[in-house]
Amino acid sequence: MVALDGPSGTGKTTVARKLADRLSAGYLDTGAMYRMVTLAVLRAGIDPADAAAVAGLADGVDLEIGTSPQRPGFRLGGEDVSAEIRGPEVTKAVSPVSAVPHVRELLVARQRRIIAEVLGEVGGIVVEGRDIGTVVVPDSPLKVFLTASADVRAARRSSQDTAAGRQSTVADARESVERRDRLDSSRTASPLRAAEDAVPVDTSELSIDQVIVALCELASHRGLLAGCSAEAAR
Ligand code: C5P
Repeated sequence: MVALDGPSGTGKTTVARKLADRLSAGYLDTGAMYRMVTLAVLRAGIDPADAAAVAGLADGVDLEIGTSPQRPGFRLGGEDVSAEIRGPEVTKAVSPVSAVPHVRELLVARQRRIIAEVLGEVGGIVVEGRDIGTVVVPDSPLKVFLTASADVRAARRSSQDTAAGRQSTVADARESVERRDRLDSSRTASPLRAAEDAVPVDTSELSIDQVIVALCELASHRGLLAGCSAEAAR
């Protein structure tokens, strides 16, 4: 099990999926779970800042999440919401929703169940988020905390948005990632922070493949699964 935490725009999702693929492990995108609850909140016409109303809705949210690193699927009430959960409305509202303690309790319990299932079936899993090494699985055998400079994170997020057909300037992306990180780091319930025993990896100057090589080395030092496959990172 690899816990991969860090702020937005550090390359977590790309790195986590590729690493899981190389380790022949499962993959869990916990951010997508918070995003699905947020989409349900917005669709219900609830103010994301209304913690009581958000908590009241959370119990009834019917979300499904896949654990394949090649094709993780995201469904809300049976509908594929993979694209919608990455849109600007959800991105803007997700931090207040994920700060609601009841939402975290529900999702952390669900995450632990999924992790246990995948570990039983596949033998390994890479889990990405903000609190995986600190709260969800504090005894994870490998914890990594990805960082990158604000400039790099903004540039990456802006090009991801553009590639997904959303209008985005680097300045807008910078404001959005900084705002989200400020909120995620300052909330009372499970704030974004590195676990004391997490290995920090600054990805500012590294390509994705270089990050994968570094993480594969860490994983093999910890004896995780059979280590990364010899094949070059795809
Ligand atoms: O990783 P991603 O950017 O998709 O996460 C979206 C949001 O979900 C984060 O900004 C944070 O508010 C929340 N989140 C969280 N805990 C996690 C994963 C994500 O609070 N483990």
